[in-house]
Amino acid sequence: MNFTGKTALVTGGSRGIGRAVCLELAGGGANVALCYAGNETAARETVRAVEALGVKALAVRCDVSDGGQVSGLMDAVVHGFQRIDILVNNAGITRDNLLMRMSEEDFDAVIAANLKGAFLCMKAVSRLMLKQRYGRIVNLSSVVGLRGNAGQANYAASKAGVIGMTKSLARELAGRGITVNAVAPGFIDTDMTAAMQDSARAAVLASVPMARLGQAEEVARAVAFLAGDDAAYITGQVLAVDGGMAM
Ligand code: NAP
Repeated sequence: MNFTGKTALVTGGSRGIGRAVCLELAGGGANVALCYAGNETAARETVRAVEALGVKALAVRCDVSDGGQVSGLMDAVVHGFQRIDILVNNAGITRDNLLMRMSEEDFDAVIAANLKGAFLCMKAVSRLMLKQRYGRIVNLSSVVGLRGNAGQANYAASKAGVIGMTKSLARELAGRGITVNAVAPGFIDTDMTAAMQDSARAAVLASVPMARLGQAEEVARAVAFLAGDDAAYITGQVLAVDGGMAM
């Protein structure tokens, strides 16, 4: 992949899949801006790893569910890099519980971070991309958004919503040199899945045809493909990276 001269913004780029995406794009020559919610140590470490690949990096603390903070994030990235060619909406959280026990607060928090956050970032970036007449947007959905999952009604709704939003914006921007696609990972070995109980983890593994968790780098390579010029004629698609779970 060659991303020389391109600027990428990866939300939630400090850890897990987002960090792997930052490194994959930087490895192809992109300058990388990332935002994070609060873990400054992880963000700094990712910036160091990106810079070690010979490109520029910038980390901005920003809650993507807050319109004012997203606006500040965009200003900071444009001030630093002048353009945004690639947006990866990766920031996400879980607040799992059975629906009967799920609080309104936990429902709202997950929708705000995972769905509204992607909306706010796409809205801000698409203005810029329209002026550039070039852009690549890749949204992180989930196998859970395709299949549902007991205990994750809020998360599944947010990730199914991301797919609907991806396809809608793909239609709006298709004639302007901007593609919008989604990647739907299965169960990937990150902090998010490390929080699962052993019994839940075993149940998940039993449902993966490839019988293993995926690695963040395996998701990052799919994101980079959709962000690259080889995917110029692909838009509105959902690429599952899930060891066969959603087929
Ligand atoms: P993770 O390890 O928990 O990392 C989450 C990242 O998002 C962190 O950088 C975190 O920042 C950031 N973040 C969280 N809330 C945010 C907010 N409101 N504003 C800005 N940044 C925020 O997660 P992951 O496992 O890598 O998952 C990344 C994405 O892939 C998520 O959208 C997730 O839903 C999706 N996904 C993951 C899996 C999986 O199995 N892991 C499967 C399917 C889909 P801090 O470091 O500051 O906390």
